Amino acid sequence: MSNESLANLLKEERRFAPPADLAAAANVTADAYAQAASDRLGFWAEQARRLSWAVEPTETLDWSTPPFAKWFKDGKLNVAYNCVDRHVEAGNGDRVAIHFEGEPGDSRSITYAELQREVAQAANALVELGVEKGDRVAVYMPMIPETVVAMLACARLGAPHSVVFGGFSADALATRIADADARVVITSDGGYRRGKPSALKPAVDEAADRSDQVRKVLVVRRTGQEVAWNDERDVWWHDIVGRQADTHTPEAHDAEHPLFILYTSGTTGKPKGILHTTGGYLTQVAYTHHAVFDLKPETDVFWCTADVGWVTGHSYIVYGPLANGATQVLYEGTPDTPHQGRWWETIAKYGVTIFYTAPTAIRACMKWGDDIPAKFDLSSLRVLGSVGEPINPEAWMWYRKHIGADAVPIVDTWWQTETGAIMISPLPGVTETKPGSAQVPLPGIAATVVDDDANEVPNGSGGYLVLTEPWPSMLRTIWGDDERYKDTYWSRFEGKYFAGDGAKKDEDGDIWLLGRVDDVMLVSGHNISTTEVESALVSHPKVAEAAVVGATDPQTTQAIVAFVILRGGASEDDGLVEELRAHVAKALGPIAKPKRIMPVAELPKTRSGKIMRRLLRDVAENRTLGDVTTLTDSAVMDLIQAKLPAAG
Ligand code: ATP
Ligand code: MG
Repeated sequence: MSNESLANLLKEERRFAPPADLAAAANVTADAYAQAASDRLGFWAEQARRLSWAVEPTETLDWSTPPFAKWFKDGKLNVAYNCVDRHVEAGNGDRVAIHFEGEPGDSRSITYAELQREVAQAANALVELGVEKGDRVAVYMPMIPETVVAMLACARLGAPHSVVFGGFSADALATRIADADARVVITSDGGYRRGKPSALKPAVDEAADRSDQVRKVLVVRRTGQEVAWNDERDVWWHDIVGRQADTHTPEAHDAEHPLFILYTSGTTGKPKGILHTTGGYLTQVAYTHHAVFDLKPETDVFWCTADVGWVTGHSYIVYGPLANGATQVLYEGTPDTPHQGRWWETIAKYGVTIFYTAPTAIRACMKWGDDIPAKFDLSSLRVLGSVGEPINPEAWMWYRKHIGADAVPIVDTWWQTETGAIMISPLPGVTETKPGSAQVPLPGIAATVVDDDANEVPNGSGGYLVLTEPWPSMLRTIWGDDERYKDTYWSRFEGKYFAGDGAKKDEDGDIWLLGRVDDVMLVSGHNISTTEVESALVSHPKVAEAAVVGATDPQTTQAIVAFVILRGGASEDDGLVEELRAHVAKALGPIAKPKRIMPVAELPKTRSGKIMRRLLRDVAENRTLGDVTTLTDSAVMDLIQAKLPAAG
């Protein structure tokens, strides 16, 4: 953002107070903000007591060599013990930890006592395969219980896992295996997606053949499909895990012992191996899961729809919920298999009370139609969450109305792979929510918006989102590249963490995320956020989804080009494009009026569901397309390019 701060365009006046009954019994009240503000480190020291420590920490934060933080550094604990064994020891062994729902309709409920035995067996099996504390283990799996078991078994041994999303290619897997120097890979024959078995093992075979370090591949049988077999390297999970002793004594690891490496999705360049460690990470995922979702472990049924291959799956399927002794749903497949109501049917089946998903999924459901969720009993829901992208106010309203019965609070949670846990979010029993805003840093978190010179912007202005104090679940470095860690996150603004996202503060000081800084457009001297123009388009009744980019323009530096997906039923008649341009101008002002609008059938998305604007910019500027390997479906780009001449 060069010249002017982001124009503060979108005016959203709707407000929703927390439901009185939820507020009256909320886990966290407004006092938490005051308490954390008066003694931030004391606040986090207290949150660390949610965990069972083998050796209690005496020092909360060592920040003597910034930006390298050490949290709770003289403490020792075992993450798997905290996520499983201690709940059994506390008498909750019969509580269901995971209701697994397979895509073909098979299901299985696993109690904490069962999970404890399975994790112990898996840990013993990994030891037999030669895994030692500190060794890296790659995990390339579908969404099945064994994936959670495998991650916990690694954590138990102190062997950092590197989970690679099961939709990634052999190539992507091979580079991640090499970067982390993983010696063992855990995978399965395949998993079910879109109604059929989808193979995983061939990609592992290819990646392992190309690497000289992979010694063992542990294979879960899920689909029963044919697999190639290497007798030296491959071991069936059911052969080795099933015959192990079902007890295992956990070792207490240092609080700063590496827990996992997770590569960011690569929307913006070469993947970075984000390193998370033990004590601080578990403290913050446990606290945020308790606070932001108001989790009551005895009665709630939690469901996060993310894939375990993303950070959301790490923090809010595996570590946060299990550290808190929650009961949760784990669903293997896609939301529209075998029908577009599968998610809502699953909520009704298990009585899900807390549901956490992404804006891209909400917009897909909007497109499919209101009548689909209306067929199911969603009355068990009491908290709804969103993560992954800024949520358009109209998508937020749809979520509240059609999923939340116009009453359930929505928490829009901003965070990143790098932050490890939620950082900015409403609290469901405290915050008066605003559609489209993540609003306030959580207690104990210091976030603000600054201008080019690192000065905090006044309310009503925009700039760059920064975090001004270290936080327990922060990344510790980029695996093997401390310099890149410093350069990427800590060099733009002295002493502050640069998130890479644009944001504005409204008149109340609440934070609105405006998308990635790289995506901000410069139009006739004004910085305009793609998010705001997209949200204005989505607020038109005929638009389900929109992606906006700035294309080089001789007159205005950049011109706004929009790609829109129409809602079911809407047709692309003559006047539509003009109608949409006028609609944006009315909502945001004439400066934000798109120069071109192209209705398209699909938008290019990353595997985690985020719109890939850089590819659309290539299209809008008639350039050869950049790297498309992290796209869900690269054919989408051919369709869009085919439309171009007519629309241009
Ligand atoms: P890469 O860093 O490789 O490009 P990525 O940033 O998509 O990948 P994640 O760490 O999963 O990978 O995503 C974090 C980003 O997602 C944030 O920086 C922000 O841009 C966006 N984001 C996440 N949650 C929200 C939210 N609630 N509101 C707005 N933006 C969000
Ligand atoms: Mg990122």
